Amino acid sequence: MNTKIDNYTSFVGEECIAGIRDLAKDLQGTTLLHVNSTSSGGGVAEMLHRLLPLFSDLGLKTRWEVLAGTPLFFQTTKTMHNALQGRDLPLTAEMKREYEAVNRRNAERIDLTADVVVIHDPQPAPFISYRSKKESSWFWRCHIDLSHPNSGVWQFLLEYAKLYDVAIFSSHKFVSDLGLLVAIVAPSIDPLAEKNIDLTHEQIEAVYARYEIPRDKSILLQVSRFDIFKDPLGVIEVYNRVKKQCDCRLILAGGGAADDPEGEAFIAQVREQASLDPQIHILPPQGQTQLTDVEINALQRGADIIIQKSLREGFALTVTEALWKKKPVVATAVGGIPRQVIDGKTGFLSDSITDTTSKVLRLLHDRQLAVALGMAGYKHVRDNFLITRHLEDYLRLMTLIARR
Ligand code: UDP
Repeated sequence: MNTKIDNYTSFVGEECIAGIRDLAKDLQGTTLLHVNSTSSGGGVAEMLHRLLPLFSDLGLKTRWEVLAGTPLFFQTTKTMHNALQGRDLPLTAEMKREYEAVNRRNAERIDLTADVVVIHDPQPAPFISYRSKKESSWFWRCHIDLSHPNSGVWQFLLEYAKLYDVAIFSSHKFVSDLGLLVAIVAPSIDPLAEKNIDLTHEQIEAVYARYEIPRDKSILLQVSRFDIFKDPLGVIEVYNRVKKQCDCRLILAGGGAADDPEGEAFIAQVREQASLDPQIHILPPQGQTQLTDVEINALQRGADIIIQKSLREGFALTVTEALWKKKPVVATAVGGIPRQVIDGKTGFLSDSITDTTSKVLRLLHDRQLAVALGMAGYKHVRDNFLITRHLEDYLRLMTLIARR
């Protein structure tokens, strides 16, 4: 794995790297603990794998702990996740008890001593109750879309969130009056990760051949966990409508996250819907657990148009990845997506199946426009959403809090 900050000079320049080193000077030896609920699947795990080695390279002592749960716990936290993203799902007393009990057991098991503790998302939020060293700083990093939260579940979670020193969100849209310090930090991608490095034409073709996807027609792609909020069934409907005017293939590439108990049932529903049409390709194929990062990279690079038809979205790293690959993107204007897709400049925003269909068709018919949007999207990511900017934001925040 690439772990040296200097290796990013070719993307962001020497001045930026020197600035990051400068920020890290006062934080030498700082112990930094991150806690989340899965080591694989989804954007949080994706970013932690890349960020932590760079913090270490910059002289901080980093640790990553993953909360261990029970089936009822993960069912509870998925319900919380869905409710916080706007579904009308209450938490039962039994669920709340399990949530708190699992957190207590994990907080007893995990060494929580660190100068800075970053707790990701609602699953381990109650860890704050077990804060031992008063002088350490605790950040609650919430990655989910809080634009329409179920108020009962949000009030329950807020009791924990309020105890943190800082709450970090991906978008201003999610910030309500929490009564605590709030920071907005956009997520990021790593240009040196296997997910994002340049690939040769042969490497891309090999992945399409491995999954028996002919390169005879335009390819529409959505990469996402199979989750109701990513709306893969809506994407199939878009494809059905596009195909009536312009023959194409659709790839839905995804998988589940270890902390998501709903994934299996939902993917079965998507497979059933897709089985009616051999030009819809669901990956990974049944029986294979997940695609590799290089495979996802190749699928993105080989696609003609990348769709992100999410109904709710924290940020959508899949959009960042697509823009980095200079791909034209059609995405819904939810969560952090409009920060990335500036409508008509770095891609197209859409608000319905009809709108997505017409924008996909427009791009299929106007290749020049598709190339121009893709190029602008790449520059936008280079300037705003690379891992170096993310490190800088964290270092600034740690310095600020340490000085308070
Ligand atoms: N991803 C992956 N395999 C999959 C589905 C998604 O590696 O089968 C990656 C995807 O490339 C992206 C991340 O998981 O890096 C998803 O992050 P995003 O912010 O788009 O959504 P989240 O899953 O966190 O809601």
